[in-house]
Amino acid sequence: MLSCKNVRKTFGEHVILDDLSLDVDEHEVVALIGASGSGKSTLLRCVNLLEQVDDGTIHLDGDEITDPRADPDRVRQKIGLVFQSYNLFPHMTVLDNITLAPVRVHKKSPAEAKAQAMQWLERVGLAAKAGAYPDRLSGGQQQRVAIVRALVNQPRLLLLDEVTSALDPELVGEVLTMIRDLKGDGTTMVLATHEMGFARQVADRVAFLDGGRVLEQGPPSQVLGDPVEARTRQFLARII
Ligand code: ATP
Ligand code: MG
Repeated sequence: MLSCKNVRKTFGEHVILDDLSLDVDEHEVVALIGASGSGKSTLLRCVNLLEQVDDGTIHLDGDEITDPRADPDRVRQKIGLVFQSYNLFPHMTVLDNITLAPVRVHKKSPAEAKAQAMQWLERVGLAAKAGAYPDRLSGGQQQRVAIVRALVNQPRLLLLDEVTSALDPELVGEVLTMIRDLKGDGTTMVLATHEMGFARQVADRVAFLDGGRVLEQGPPSQVLGDPVEARTRQFLARII
């Protein structure tokens, strides 16, 4: 469903992604791991066309999204991206945060957008917060709202960049539970994480980024438990 082929991305002299290839199947959850600075966020940003690749191609459902003629707005309608810091609009209620794009960009009727948003909020246990402003919510609640905001556009693919790393440890669980539920629905996800426990729990496949490419990938039990590459072993030894 997502296919990155020979992707190269440089910032000035720095080669961040170098001949990186990664395929993701429909309904699959892939965790990107790797040292800080290894290019996990850069890869997600390239997939969402927030960064332009220097070379190589990215296809989504068979369409080349890195084609200069591709419309970035249309591509982003199909790809939800949630960051570490939730980036909710502080001056808007939870409900308005969620319905903004469906109404403004996707021209849904406010009533339909609201009904859809409320369905999601109920599902994640936040219906009572619909009228609240983000600063009245815990970090975990805000992050779940941010994920709902990405989901109401019914993206084909959800990209999650360190969505738990800004949270207090006791709030991480509720976000993980939500992501596990989404996986149960068959949501296709690519997530960057520093938490190997999280990767092990939700990912079908773990991809280790090193030297600008995917050095090793496979089931979590293999990559995290019995890695083939010495560099993967070194990385895991450092963080665990
Ligand atoms: P972390 O685990 O800390 O989130 P990461 O794997 O997500 O790291 P990236 O954020 O993708 O790593 O960064 C990869 C490298 O690219 C870093 O050296 C970073 O400084 C550099 N970089 C990222 N964005 C830019 C930019 N806009 N301009 C210049 N350099 C950048
Ligand atoms: Mg990052």
